[in-house]
Amino acid sequence: MTDNTQSKPGVGTKAVWAGEKDQLVHHATQVPVVVSVAYGYDDMEEWYDVAIGNKTGHIYGRNTNPTVQAFEDKVRLLEEAEAATSFSTGMAAISNTVYTFVRPGDRVVSIKDSYGGTHRLFTEFLSNINVESTLCDTGDHEALEAEIARGCKIVYLETPTNPLVKITDIQRIAKSAKAVGALLVVDNTVATPVCQSPLALGADLVLHSATKYLGGHADALGGVVCGDKKLIDPIFHYREINGATLAPWDAYLLLRGMKTLKLRVMQQCDSAMQVAEYLKTQDLVESVYYPGLKEHLHHDVAARQMHGGFGGMLSFAVKGGMESAAILLPRLQYANCAANLGAVETTYGPARTTSHVECTVEERKALGVPEGLIRMSVGIEDLPDIIADLDQAFAYLKSKI
Ligand SMILES: *Cc1c(COP(=O)(O)O)cnc(C)c1O
Repeated sequence: MTDNTQSKPGVGTKAVWAGEKDQLVHHATQVPVVVSVAYGYDDMEEWYDVAIGNKTGHIYGRNTNPTVQAFEDKVRLLEEAEAATSFSTGMAAISNTVYTFVRPGDRVVSIKDSYGGTHRLFTEFLSNINVESTLCDTGDHEALEAEIARGCKIVYLETPTNPLVKITDIQRIAKSAKAVGALLVVDNTVATPVCQSPLALGADLVLHSATKYLGGHADALGGVVCGDKKLIDPIFHYREINGATLAPWDAYLLLRGMKTLKLRVMQQCDSAMQVAEYLKTQDLVESVYYPGLKEHLHHDVAARQMHGGFGGMLSFAVKGGMESAAILLPRLQYANCAANLGAVETTYGPARTTSHVECTVEERKALGVPEGLIRMSVGIEDLPDIIADLDQAFAYLKSKI
């Protein structure tokens, strides 16, 4: 598949075909896992031309690799970006992107509910190089706009957030970022390119923890950032020196996982919506958070900026807090109680142990994270089985309290 096909292929078609053709060899229909660390040249002129970038090709595995390149191209085409570069993990994508552009004295404006590691980067590490981070209440667009208007280098968003699935209006914030010449970076991990296109909404860079939905099988770590070539080139350069390279075998697993991205995510969105509705009917459930629910604070924004669904992740608070969660979760049959999300298996985790493990009880309270909050990443099991599983676990919980 090439970029200039006459009718623009859909996201499902791109997930299957995009980015692969240039890397195929021996008439194979699948991208090879090229494990070679270095690439040999007998022609010294050719070697030199490739090394200085005058000719395409590979020199050394920390810089580029054909399997990794296929992965980057597939994500790039899914995000409809000009360029992409990849990383060993999602956090490497985030930190390399931020460190490429900030200099001492700069300011970063973001939200309070970003992913735990991202939050740590802002609160613990950037101050070491004299970069100030201002974190606004998530969903408070006026506060964000006011802080951005004071001037900053990077505006960093994540929407929906984890685990409270709060929403920020990307298009609206893109306008204020542009007005002060700041780069708008959006973590699209939870929404995926199936449900949200941050670049089309005005973001400069979109990034992913490919570990989650892109890979989808919880068997490979990876990260990726997409945007214009003039922004991706310096990030690639920082990464090739910094060394947080995606391994070829992991690139292959992620590529293979991505073939079913659309099928998985559509099913997960559908099921998540229905699980959210089901949870609302449970008297042991205190609150349910899902952007697809009409009563969600920013449902209208989510409906405007997301497409195809509202994502496969939701959260709910059980009455009785962690004590109840400790009875409920081990009782579930079709469930991994684990720290990841976006896998084909339904995965549950208490916010206290996963996204907000570093916070004290008071801090969680201040962030509006109930002690009994459970994050649920809905898998691709049959929906009646997911619901029946929850049903028997709630019945058991009721008999215990
Ligand atoms: C998991 C996650 C990350 C970090 O990704 P790793 O691959 O674990 O480094 C970043 N952002 C979000 C939203 C995530 O869920």
